[in-house]
Parts: sequence; C-alpha cells; structure tokens
Amino acid sequence: MPVRDEFRMGAAGAPAEGSDAGPAKDLIDAYMTSRVLSYRRQAKRSFEDAQRLAGKDAGAAEEKAREALDASAKAFWWAEDSPLEERQHQLMHKIGKWKRKQLGCSIFFDGKGYAHRCPVVIAHKKMGFSVGFTATRICSICRKDLASDECPHFRDRSYWIRGGADAYGPCRVCEQDPCKHRADTLYRARVVAIVSAHSNMSLHEVSIVRKPAQPEARLAEVPIDIDELASHLGPNFLPGVRLNCDQCLGKCPGFTEFPGEH
Ligand SMILES: [Zn+2]
Ligand SMILES: [Zn+2]
Ligand SMILES: [Zn+2]
Ligand SMILES: [Zn+2]
Repeated sequence: MPVRDEFRMGAAGAPAEGSDAGPAKDLIDAYMTSRVLSYRRQAKRSFEDAQRLAGKDAGAAEEKAREALDASAKAFWWAEDSPLEERQHQLMHKIGKWKRKQLGCSIFFDGKGYAHRCPVVIAHKKMGFSVGFTATRICSICRKDLASDECPHFRDRSYWIRGGADAYGPCRVCEQDPCKHRADTLYRARVVAIVSAHSNMSLHEVSIVRKPAQPEARLAEVPIDIDELASHLGPNFLPGVRLNCDQCLGKCPGFTEFPGEH
C-alpha cells in the first residue's frame, strides 16, 4: 500500500489523531529541499538583477551580485552532503565568476589586515559554528517541553496531526499561519523543536564543527596571514593595496576540511 500523507478525519482507514505515522526522514529531507530551492530561486533572481544593472549602476549591481552569492552559498549549505549539493556549488561558482569578471571581487582590508569575506571562499571551508545553549525547547506536536516526560514524541518519527493554526500557535504541519492545511484533515507532521522567546536562554559555548546543525551558522570571514601574504607577493607588497580575490575567478579551489591543515 502506498504511503498516504493525509486522511480526512473519520474517513474509512483514517489513523487515530496523534498516532505514529512512521519515520520522519522524508519530511526532514523535503524541508531541506524546500530551503535549498528557495535560496536557489533567490540567488537566480538577484543574479538576473545584477546582470541587468551592470553597466548602468555599478553600486546597485554589486549589491545584487553580493545578495546572489550569499543566497547561493546558503543553498549550498542546506544541500550539503545531499544529491542537490553539486548543483548549488556550480551556481555559486557561476555567479562568483561573473561578479569577479564584471564587477571585481577584492579581498577585504580593515586598515590592519586582510580577510576573505567572499561567500565563494567561505563556502569552500567546510566548517561552521555549533552554538551550545540551554533553553526550553518546545515540541511542536504537543507544545510541551521536549526534554520532559510529558512529551512522548521523537524527533525522528512523524505523527498524524490535524492541520491549521489554533489558539496555541501556528499550524503544526507546516509551522505557518495562515496555511492551506485543514482542521478536519490529518497530515503526517514531523517534530520541530521550538525555542520559546520567553524561555531563559543561556549561552554556554560556541565551537567550530565540520557540519553545523544550523546550516547557515558559518564563518563571517576568513582572516589571511599577512606575513604569508607578504612572502607570496614579494618585497613590493604594501599592506592596504587592493588585492583581487582570485578564488572566484573560475577554477574551483577545492574544499578545506575542518580542522584544516593548520
Ligand atoms: Zn511532544
Ligand atoms: Zn499548515
Ligand atoms: Zn571572490
Ligand atoms: Zn568550488
């Protein structure tokens, strides 16, 4: 029997409300895919804007190209280790190459040192932040504390849940309000951990990990060792001079794996 994702309540063969609806992997994958595709659309839209503006308004084109690169890097991070990864990687290089050739891409200088802020460079460092904090995580299904005995739900399972927002919060199927889900229909829903804005959150530590649980928790910049730079560029190098970012010029530099070479 094919897996059904919804039942009108009370219909023949309908499962009991709240009962287990099987592994949640497909729903978790579908969520990941929707994030990837949404960022990809955003990247393409901004890239088209940048191309349209180039030659007319360099500043505006630069801004749009930057947005396009940021969105393509986010699509890439959400797609990490999935079959969608390589297409986002290629889109990022395509936009980076265009931007480098049409508008330039220079290495950020803050008055003292240089740092890569180009999303193409940052995305080739396979690392991100893991933020350790304690806060009450509320179960999206029963709206009780996920860690408590009161909540019987598991993050890797799905449950038959009626759709639509109610007095206690948004729709438990899609986390939106309003949405298209109906209150007289049961849908397969995954468990989402909600960090309540009212809960007392305390930050323990931030550590660097190979693959962050939050795909977008990435480095803001990659500092460059100025002595190493000087040894590459020779005796005429003056700190502060404009340096081009050549990593987005076309050829993929390959990935640096965490913890990296040094
Ligand atoms: Zn629960
Ligand atoms: Zn919904
Ligand atoms: Zn660059
Ligand atoms: Zn690459």
